[in-house]
Amino acid sequence: MSNVTVCARFRPLSSKEKRDHGENICIRSLDSETFVLKDEKEEEFTFSFDRVFYEGSEQADVYKFLAFPIVQDACNAINGTIITYGQTGAGKTYSMEGTSILDCHEQNKGLLPRVVDGLFHCLESADNTTKYTVNLSMVEIYMEKIRDLLDLSKDNLQIKEGKVKGIFLSGATEVSISDRTEALRHLSSGIANRAVGETQMNMASSRSHCAYIFTVQQEEKNERRVKMGKLILVDLAGSEKAERSGAEGRVLEEAKTINKSLSALGNVINALTNGSPGKTNHIPYRDSKLTRILQDALGGNSRTALLCCCSPSTSNASESLSSLRFGARAKHIKTSPRVNFSETKIDKKNLVPSPTKNESYERIL
Ligand code: ADP
Ligand code: MG
Repeated sequence: MSNVTVCARFRPLSSKEKRDHGENICIRSLDSETFVLKDEKEEEFTFSFDRVFYEGSEQADVYKFLAFPIVQDACNAINGTIITYGQTGAGKTYSMEGTSILDCHEQNKGLLPRVVDGLFHCLESADNTTKYTVNLSMVEIYMEKIRDLLDLSKDNLQIKEGKVKGIFLSGATEVSISDRTEALRHLSSGIANRAVGETQMNMASSRSHCAYIFTVQQEEKNERRVKMGKLILVDLAGSEKAERSGAEGRVLEEAKTINKSLSALGNVINALTNGSPGKTNHIPYRDSKLTRILQDALGGNSRTALLCCCSPSTSNASESLSSLRFGARAKHIKTSPRVNFSETKIDKKNLVPSPTKNESYERIL
């Protein structure tokens, strides 16, 4: 069993926060894992995470700590999930994409381009008895509908569960990527498609969840089965409360749907962490598309990391507090990452019995 890795990241104060509220910071660092948050009422809350990234932290450090081990595992056919959580403007997309997906300055690169580098680095250093195939899908969940960002004509993808594949998006475009440049080109056009949809639907990316899904398939010369690791990166919609933005009409409906899927996520986390030992309680994965897509990441065979992005400003202390509480609960989730065998390569009259779904390998983490 492996615990979900949970980190907090505080961005620098924004110029708006400085202008409107001064330089009032609500956090005091104790060490690289622990800090105290003081809310507007001067009440103090201490949090401990696997790592805390303060305002001077480098994008590379976040990648190294949070994502690198998961990327390595994905190259060894172990599923992984990396999620960014927090209120709008807290730094989720900055952490995920960087200043722009195509900005290759070392300082600015976010998790996504680094994951691509990491994947291809692993694959290029593998011995030549293994053939790797990397595929990418990109989807957005908005108002409980899943839109294919690599083909905008597919605007209502359905979630299915297969014996071999586990949870998957039926009919989602999967592009094969053979190198970094190709990967970045597809990511960038998917991200641009997100913006096109936004203007058509009058939607801001802060109101939808975005999932980047990489699958790494490995065929070994003398092995009759294929191994497959799925790596999902999720940039969640803003977690702020609906009332705060004074929303009305459609915007209020959007906010409620987001709150519904994020509370469904919270409920799944509660159900996973509140169960009494030895008893299997009902986990409400089916309450939202988001929790269904993340089913493996939360309760299944995935190695999972959560980055709670927060503003350090006292004016945002209550939103930061709720994001951090979410992270603190997620820290108790345990998953069972293991090597996935996906399908039989040669089927010569069943010389060997067919593998069962996600058959365990000798390496149980
Ligand atoms: P979110 O996706 O959570 O809504 P963004 O990632 O878009 O928020 O961040 C909001 C703004 O803050 C952007 O202008 C971004 O460049 C900046 N920002 C966020 N995190 C950092 C950081 N760690 N360092 C510097 N700037 C940051
Ligand atoms: Mg964003």
